[in-house]
This record gives sequence, C-alpha cells and structure tokens, in this order.
Amino acid sequence: MRNKSVITEAHQITLAIELVQLGARLPVLEAETSVSRERLLKLYKEVKGKSPPKGMLPFSTDWFMNWQPNIHASLFLDIYRYLEENAGASAIEAIVKAYRLYIEHLEVNGLECVLSFTRAWSLVRFVKAKMLTTVSCTQCRGHFIVHALDLHRGYVCGLCHVPSRAGKTRQAALAVQSARELLPRTPAPARAPVVATVD
Ligand SMILES: [Zn+2]
Repeated sequence: MRNKSVITEAHQITLAIELVQLGARLPVLEAETSVSRERLLKLYKEVKGKSPPKGMLPFSTDWFMNWQPNIHASLFLDIYRYLEENAGASAIEAIVKAYRLYIEHLEVNGLECVLSFTRAWSLVRFVKAKMLTTVSCTQCRGHFIVHALDLHRGYVCGLCHVPSRAGKTRQAALAVQSARELLPRTPAPARAPVVATVD
C-alpha cells in the first residue's frame, strides 16, 4: 500500500475485516482490497482466530443450477441488482449489503444459509462475465438464475415446479414457502402453500 493516504488505507482495512467477518475467502480479499497478502493473512487470523482455508475458490456455475442453491442465489442476485441500480453502491459494497440482507431474511425465517459469501461474490462475477444470467419465470414472473447459453423459452422456476425430492422434508417445505415470501416480485402460484403464511 505505497503512496496511499491513511484514510484510504483505513477504509481498505475496514472493508477487509468486514469481508472476513462475512466469511470471504482469501482470494476474494485479495481481489477486492489493495491490502497486501501478508497483511490480509495476519488480519484474517486476528479476526477469525485461525488461518484461512487453502485451495481454490468454487469456480463452477453448475452449483447455482441445483434447486435450493438456485432459489437462494436468485434471491441474493435480486437484492444485489436492486442495490447496485438504486443505492449507487460500488460493486463490492452492493455485494456486502445484499449479502447482509440475505442473511437477515434467513434469520427471520429460521432458514439455513445455503449461499456462502464467497459463492455470492462468485455469482456476481459469473453474471458480469455473462456466464450466468436470469430469466423470468413464466408462472410467477420472479427472476431466476440460468446458464446464459441455454434455451429458456417457457421457463418455469424451482418454486413453481418443485422437484419431488425437494419437498420431502419439513425443512425443505419451509424453504420453499419462505423463499416465496422472500422474493418480493414473486406472487405465490395459485396452488395452496406448503406451509401456512404467517404475517
Ligand atoms: Zn416461478
């Protein structure tokens, strides 16, 4: 961090701490801050009390096509896009804010976290690289993540057409219902909800 003002440096350190707290992996910190790798390692250990996990970042877009990850990731992306378009936030700020809102939604609904911060960050990169995009579900009109190069005519999302294996456990049924409530532009389909809505 040569030739950087103290304020810029402080800002970068604050961002790095926030990212570590949210669960960002080291390569994310390196990509998003100008803090040296050596200092990031030290910072990570101080914040987490352990060394960062080694190994590559998840690089496959296929993970986002699985039923539950797709719903969680689509929800996150919806929030992210809203913040990026309307709040004037930088890309990383929008990711951090959107991820906090996503976590808040999970906590309110008592759901497990499916999308890690690093996955959320990768998702935004995949979308910007035009590997992934979203299409509108023909039934609920919610936006869902799909491979950019696939054909999507008549697309029906995983909430309007729940695969039979997904609705088997109570937790999964709750996930379906909560996800329906979470996606603000997604009116529930005409069929009866799996779990009663609590307002
Ligand atoms: Zn749908």
